[in-house]
Amino acid sequence: MIAAFAGVLGLLVGSFLNVVVYRVPRGESVVRPPSHCPRCGSLVRSRHNAPVLGWILLRGRCADCRLPISVRYPLVELATGVLFAAVALRVGVGAALPAYLWFTGAGIALALIDLDVRRLPNAIVAPSYPILLGLLAGAAAWGHDWGAFARAVIGGAMLFAFYMSLVLVYPAGMGWGDVKLAGLVGGVLAFLSWQAFFVGAFVAFVLGALVGIAVLALGRGGRKTALPFGPFMIGGVLLALFAAAPVASWYGALVG
Ligand SMILES: [Zn+2]
Repeated sequence: MIAAFAGVLGLLVGSFLNVVVYRVPRGESVVRPPSHCPRCGSLVRSRHNAPVLGWILLRGRCADCRLPISVRYPLVELATGVLFAAVALRVGVGAALPAYLWFTGAGIALALIDLDVRRLPNAIVAPSYPILLGLLAGAAAWGHDWGAFARAVIGGAMLFAFYMSLVLVYPAGMGWGDVKLAGLVGGVLAFLSWQAFFVGAFVAFVLGALVGIAVLALGRGGRKTALPFGPFMIGGVLLALFAAAPVASWYGALVG
């Protein structure tokens, strides 16, 4: 029940995230003007605005000028729906769910923008600090678990400081956008547990290294091709959310 509800919410949020991912890097408003075709300017009709279904109804083209619409739009909507449902099942109906859905939505937008333009816009990262602090404080108050909230604040500060030291030591490797995102990542991870914090922070670097090696091996870039790191940080959070304990025991068996 909660998964179905979160899934539908995710489809709608995914539709909005497409607008965010397209407009925020261009410095445009996400509310006005309403969605329109970039070539002929005709407004998207309300029946074509439905997530996924609209794209299928249009067979991937503008209703007026037949300009192809990227398949990425329905895929982002679908992925957001699936992730929202999965996060709701994992976190459960509770006071912490809004914080994790917010992070998931913002994380999807940030990962896509980082892949597109190698930036993690302040317009999304900065407001996420007070919003997540507020939502996690609410969850802590509701569950009488101020220990978790303290952990989130300490974990956020720790990961922020860690990424800042990386940027100061080796400025070519990481950007200040990654440092600012690290505070959010550390906070939501540590709110879960210290195990989730260390697994999530560690997995980002493992994923980054694996993809970096794959890109080199496929000859898709030289050693200087900087990969955007935001998607790995966000991937680390999701992986820790769903699999912190298995990853930790696997790693323990590997080194122990
Ligand atoms: Zn058009």
